[in-house]
Amino acid sequence: MNDHSPDPRPSRKLIIAIDGPAGAGKSTIASRLARKLGYVNLESGAMYRALALKAIENDISLDDEAGLLNLAEDLRIKLEPTMGGNRTVLDGQDVSSRIRERDVTEAASRVSVHPKVREWMVAHQRAMGAGGGVVMEGRDIGTKVFPDADLKIFLDADPVVREQRRRQQQKIRGEVAANVAAELRERDHRDRTRAISPLVPAEDAVVIDSTSMSEDEVLQKIEELVNHKLP
Ligand code: C5P
Repeated sequence: MNDHSPDPRPSRKLIIAIDGPAGAGKSTIASRLARKLGYVNLESGAMYRALALKAIENDISLDDEAGLLNLAEDLRIKLEPTMGGNRTVLDGQDVSSRIRERDVTEAASRVSVHPKVREWMVAHQRAMGAGGGVVMEGRDIGTKVFPDADLKIFLDADPVVREQRRRQQQKIRGEVAANVAAELRERDHRDRTRAISPLVPAEDAVVIDSTSMSEDEVLQKIEELVNHKLP
């Protein structure tokens, strides 16, 4: 090989899947990790949330699978990474804050139980991440969207700690503290027990329990795992 030959081992851009329940810290970690690696951070939950918002706005029942699929097919959604996390743009409008509100959060979890809706989401998520250089977070990324992901993390934490973190997030956003514990548990239960792609760690996922870890510690651990995967 001379100096002008292309590098036979171009630096590979990984697909990193981060799954786990709400409040485990996925979004913050995924966004920080992506920034450090120069990767794109794709929050798959934002897509379910955007569809839920569209259903609410169009008065489509959250149980109407065909109606939801119709809406999904018209969904113009962009996930734009920013320094402060991902911005979600739906039909040209920044809905980043709106989709975090309680009604949309609850609706997203209900929308996500429908097999055809999930099929649509998975196909789009695969297309978005196919080129690699992506940290994608959600519930079924390691099990369904990218079963061959280079690195799979399942980020978990004790429910009480997750509830505290959620409350803290709500406080920062200036939201009225609702019954966080009950809502989180209900959503968790729905996500873990649905028939299609329930929230479970992939067999080959590295499970990280962040209950007594700081954000920096979690990030450092994942970075070590990433370094082992890089050529
Ligand atoms: O991650 P986030 O809390 O934004 O997700 C909102 C909801 O979308 C979850 O409660 C879950 O029901 C659904 N979801 C999913 N699969 C994903 C991402 C999110 O079912 N990959």
